Amino acid sequence: MTEQEMIKVEKLNKSFGDLHVLKGIDISVKESDVVCLIGASGSGKSTLLRCLNFLEVKDNGKIIFEGEQVEQETHDINKIRQKVGMVFQHFHLFPHKSVIENIMEAPIHVRKIPKSQALEEARSLLKKVGLADKENVYPSKLSGGQKQRVAIARALAMKPDIMLFDEPTSALDPELVGEVLATMKELAEEGMTMIVVTHEMGFAREVADWVVYMHDGKIVEVGHPDEMFANPKEQRTREFIESVL
Ligand code: ADP
Ligand code: MG
Repeated sequence: MTEQEMIKVEKLNKSFGDLHVLKGIDISVKESDVVCLIGASGSGKSTLLRCLNFLEVKDNGKIIFEGEQVEQETHDINKIRQKVGMVFQHFHLFPHKSVIENIMEAPIHVRKIPKSQALEEARSLLKKVGLADKENVYPSKLSGGQKQRVAIARALAMKPDIMLFDEPTSALDPELVGEVLATMKELAEEGMTMIVVTHEMGFAREVADWVVYMHDGKIVEVGHPDEMFANPKEQRTREFIESVL
C-alpha cells in the first residue's frame, strides 16, 4: 500500500478567460510523498493547488484522487475536499473564534463528531503544533507563526489524506518562518502526503522527496532535490534556482 497513488493529474488545463494558466499538467503523488512545487510568481502554482482542492474548476484533463477520477459534475466535491487539507499564505482563521474553537469547528459541523471528542482531538493537535497553552486565545493575539501553526492544526483536524500548502511562510516575518517549517517537517516525517508551494529552498532540499519546477503553466523539470539544486537539467530551472538561492 505504501506505493499507492494519492493524486494523479493528467493533461490538466485551466484558463481564466483568454489566459491559459495551466497547460497540460501531468503529476503523480504517492502516499507519504513530500513534493515541493517551485516557480516564479504567476507560473500557475496556486491555480494548480486550487484545482487539486476543487476550489477552481479545471477546463479539461483528469484528476484522479485515491484511484478514482473525480469530476465536479458527478462527485460530491465537499466529501473529497475533506480529505484534502489546505493551508494558505494568509492563515484564514475565524477571527471571532478562539484557537480551540477554530480547530473544533469543522470536526463538529462537517465530520459530525461529538463536541467532547472534537475538544480532545483539538487539544492533542494544539500540543502537536506546540501551542497547548493558547487554547483560549483569539487569533488577533497570536504571532503570524502561531496563527499559521493553528491553521495547520485546523486543517489536520479533518484528518486529511493529503495536505496542500500554498506559500505557508511567505507572509511571515523571517524570524517566525522556522517554527512553521519545523511543524511541517514533523508532519512530513510522520508520513503525511504533502504538496508544498514554497520559496524556502532549504526546506525543499531537506524535506522534499522530489521537487517540481513550474514555468508559465507547464512543468519544466521534476527531480530529487539534491539533483535539482546541484545539477538542474534545464537552463530555465538553473536560472530560477540561482535567482532564489
Ligand atoms: P502562482 O501561484 O505561481 O504565482 P497563480 O496560479 O496564482 O500563479 O496565477 C497564474 C496566473 O493566473 C497569473 O497570471 C494570475 O494573474 C492568473 N490568475 C490566477 N487566478 C486568477 C483568477 N481567479 N482570475 C483571473 N486570473 C487569475
Ligand atoms: Mg501563488
